[in-house]
Amino acid sequence: MNSKEALVRKDLQYVWHPCSQMKDYEELAPIVIDHAKGVNLYDMDGKRYLDVVSSWWCNLLGHCNPYISDAIKKQLDKLEHVIFANFSHEGAILLCERLMKHLPKGLVKFNFSDNGSASIECALKMSFQYQYQTGHPEKKHFMTLSDGYHGETVGALSVGGLDLYAEIYKPMLMDVFHVEAPDCYRCPYGECRETCRATCFEKAEKAFALHAKETCAFICEPLLQGSAGMRIYPPIYLQKLRDACDRYGVLLIADEIATGFGRTGKFFACEHADIAPDIMCLSKGLTGGYMPMSLTITTQKVYDAFYADYSEGKAFMHSHTYSGNPLGCAAAHAVLDILENEPVFDNAAKNAIYLHKHLVEALGGHKNVGEIRHIGLINAIELVADPKTKTPFESKNRTGYQIYKKALAKGLLLRPLGDVLYFNPPLIISPAEIDEAIALCKEAILEILGE
Ligand SMILES: *Cc1c(COP(=O)(O)O)cnc(C)c1O
Repeated sequence: MNSKEALVRKDLQYVWHPCSQMKDYEELAPIVIDHAKGVNLYDMDGKRYLDVVSSWWCNLLGHCNPYISDAIKKQLDKLEHVIFANFSHEGAILLCERLMKHLPKGLVKFNFSDNGSASIECALKMSFQYQYQTGHPEKKHFMTLSDGYHGETVGALSVGGLDLYAEIYKPMLMDVFHVEAPDCYRCPYGECRETCRATCFEKAEKAFALHAKETCAFICEPLLQGSAGMRIYPPIYLQKLRDACDRYGVLLIADEIATGFGRTGKFFACEHADIAPDIMCLSKGLTGGYMPMSLTITTQKVYDAFYADYSEGKAFMHSHTYSGNPLGCAAAHAVLDILENEPVFDNAAKNAIYLHKHLVEALGGHKNVGEIRHIGLINAIELVADPKTKTPFESKNRTGYQIYKKALAKGLLLRPLGDVLYFNPPLIISPAEIDEAIALCKEAILEILGE
């Protein structure tokens, strides 16, 4: 076996890590994780890290959950993978049937891919082709919210709105109509969350009036713009959006890759607004964070626009090698078993109240805490230079990153988005683990920013 030092050296020699300036790794070496359990990761020295970011928001029910692991092991000895064109298998078929009980009404046709970005690409192509085949070839563009995030492939990046990821690639990207997203912390209309009527939707209304005739679909992250800094906007905005899409013949794509499976306190974020999209994208929590799998789910109406004699050329000629992978399906069934049979959501709802209350007590009064916003177990602390004026820190200070490094040294994995620190823990986190995470987070903040 290689020593930790040898592995770190070889990592730096061979591996190009995601979303990283590799030069930073000279100062902060990669942490080589040996094993994990529940909310805890353990490195090669046995040092423990509380994974309150669910390993990039995907781990839903804890690491190495024996029930999910067993389900995958059983499947592995039966059928590891099979071509999914013309062939099928029980796991995939019954997964669709089971998910339908939890999905918003009308979502009845399931297209499988193997990661979140791929499910977005699928949704974009599907809505473009739907419009084309229903007499609207002129509807070939997409509309989206500023500051959105839908993944890193070229189509997904095009409909995203974060320059941090997209800026350099703009010459390669599609032209997309961007609507200024709601920004409730810095609301330009001076409204507050409690009484908001989403007046800011007038910006979307204007964009629809100008561009809807050329638009095939509007894509958004319902209620929670995750990568934008866990920005939370009210259900009424989503209701207005659904209504505008209906009026203008634009499909609504809900990217629930981050918000699905109880993250916002409901099975899907769309439920808060009591709306159903025309297309929904799922990944991350779908397999509990165990296997790469995603779904693009749509309505009978969309499906029917592709259904014809082969010679008409209307089929959706879209595929991925690992579509419908049986191991992913086995993991997803195990996740549903647990969610349907155990009080996971009830406990998470109680712990969400606990987490928010204690986080506000610990940090709400700190001189640099602008806002602590929350939905479900997700809590985000926006750090600012001056809360009165909501002035951000200078980005060159990398304040969030300094706190990240401090927290890591203390055994807390808290990967901030700029200067927004957040908790998005597995739904099974306990009050004791919440206490520990808050205490470590507070220590790290105080060491960098002072009392
Ligand atoms: C993570 C994420 C994606 C991309 O999923 P990948 O599996 O990383 O490609 C898309 N949309 C949202 C909202 C996400 O959080």
